Amino acid sequence: MVFPVHQQVPAPATASPRRHRSAVAGPAGGLLELQRAAGNRAVARLAVQRCGPTPCDCSPAEREAEETPVQRVAADFRVTGKSPKASTDLRSIYFDHESSTVTAPDDTKFAAFAGVPMSTVRLKGTASEEERRGPGRAALVDDRIAAVSGPLTAGSPGTGNPTPRPDLSSGGLDYRSARRVEVLVGNQQSTAPVCTPSPDISCGPSPNAFDTAHARAVVLLADARNALGTPTAAPAVGPLTALFHGPANAAAVDTGLAAIEAHLPHMLPVIPLHDAAAAGHRCINTCLGDDFLASNRGSGTSARMTLGPKFLNEPDVTERALVLIHEGSHGATGLITDDEAYQWQRLLAALPLNRALNNADSFTRFVALVANPALASVAQVDDTSRLTGAGQAAKANETMAWLEQWLVQSRLDLRSLYSHVSDAVTAAAWRPAGGHYRDNVMTLLVGDFGVTAPPAAPVMDDQEKIAGIFDRLFALRRKITGQAFTFRVGGYRWSSGPGTSIRVPTTFFGTSARTRVERLLRLAVNAAPFIETSRREHYYRLVKRLSAGSGP
Ligand SMILES: [Zn+2]
Ligand SMILES: [Zn+2]
Repeated sequence: MVFPVHQQVPAPATASPRRHRSAVAGPAGGLLELQRAAGNRAVARLAVQRCGPTPCDCSPAEREAEETPVQRVAADFRVTGKSPKASTDLRSIYFDHESSTVTAPDDTKFAAFAGVPMSTVRLKGTASEEERRGPGRAALVDDRIAAVSGPLTAGSPGTGNPTPRPDLSSGGLDYRSARRVEVLVGNQQSTAPVCTPSPDISCGPSPNAFDTAHARAVVLLADARNALGTPTAAPAVGPLTALFHGPANAAAVDTGLAAIEAHLPHMLPVIPLHDAAAAGHRCINTCLGDDFLASNRGSGTSARMTLGPKFLNEPDVTERALVLIHEGSHGATGLITDDEAYQWQRLLAALPLNRALNNADSFTRFVALVANPALASVAQVDDTSRLTGAGQAAKANETMAWLEQWLVQSRLDLRSLYSHVSDAVTAAAWRPAGGHYRDNVMTLLVGDFGVTAPPAAPVMDDQEKIAGIFDRLFALRRKITGQAFTFRVGGYRWSSGPGTSIRVPTTFFGTSARTRVERLLRLAVNAAPFIETSRREHYYRLVKRLSAGSGP
């Protein structure tokens, strides 16, 4: 199906989630034991009421938490393991799901703070939104702060105590990053995102990351169109051949680039903070993940472009300009591209002409290659050298390319759904902007995953389930994008992981292209240890349904 929002994403580093521990250790364990012994409702009564019956500034999620006993997301939707940021963010201590135990690599971070006067330190503690939605949430955050405060104070004896700053608000879709304690020295500011009423942030004073990228995009597009004036010569001929089936199609490519050029001025208006409808550009924080690059909704003068942390943190102005060109191609009147294949996908080089001329990254890559002909492809190349039958290698590569595309788009669909469900939970009703995802994605989750059937408003349970589904689809997508696979003939088997070895029978190559993708999808899901056995059929069916309108 064609979605109204087109999202641009980088290929993130591969990270394998750790399995959930069977027991929770540390100070939080006591409360868990108490809950098991006494029942959730009894524990709920012990908690201090933070929201009274009168209106307060609590979020709907917090209010719901006050009114219901301790709830936990079911095990097969749980997001476990520590954030990959644990190894790079030396200012924060990260925790596993429901845990307040400091483990490697975070246990080595305290030494750097030895000698820092603890009276100047604030400890901002947070939990992911699905951890202890009930009153135990405050206890978990307090336990985490205590687990950090102890070792810090021991390293700077006689310098006072750190100030605890528990924050019980929700930190968005990236659950692992929300399970942490930030060590803020002096007037250091927290990097934890504020997700309500929206993830909107200022794009910064001019000239900001958008302004400089926009100016560069104007130049890059002019250069690319200029190069198309002589399509049979460098620098146009190479990228025309690689992306658009040869210099004969130069005029069609130029028509597309001209449409993007004409759209650039429509990006300029600054969308007011938390305005859900205005056109132009806006910037968001990490509530939808720090890998959020950019997206576009609508076209022409009503196009709404969103720029995420991955864009704002990109130091290379040309890279940022290419992001604007990509999003501009989605919103350009007369062009309105789709995301048929990102430039880091196997499928990009295999797109037929009509799909290439409808693909945002085909235009973007063309502009990039004119600016820098030495750019190397980053798409995976699978090893099909062990396939000797006529046409087998080509069919194997085609199948992998489409499987990657199905998984790329499916996980993006779930991320968009999460965003709209989050809005709908806050508003206690679906908003018009979320209608497409309500009708085309949420509805697919009702039967197999048990979410609230639209048009009824979704609840926090649904939001947490969607985050869990997203996490598993993203892990599977990273596996497919992050490694090359070797095909062999003989039986149906994908090594566990999914690992790098794929076996298919000879009959596989006699089936339709779509059937081949479905077969590989089933093998991939079955080979994923992070997808619960009882859920495998559901994930297979979900990706298949989300890809119903896609190729091949
Ligand atoms: Zn689309
Ligand atoms: Zn896109």
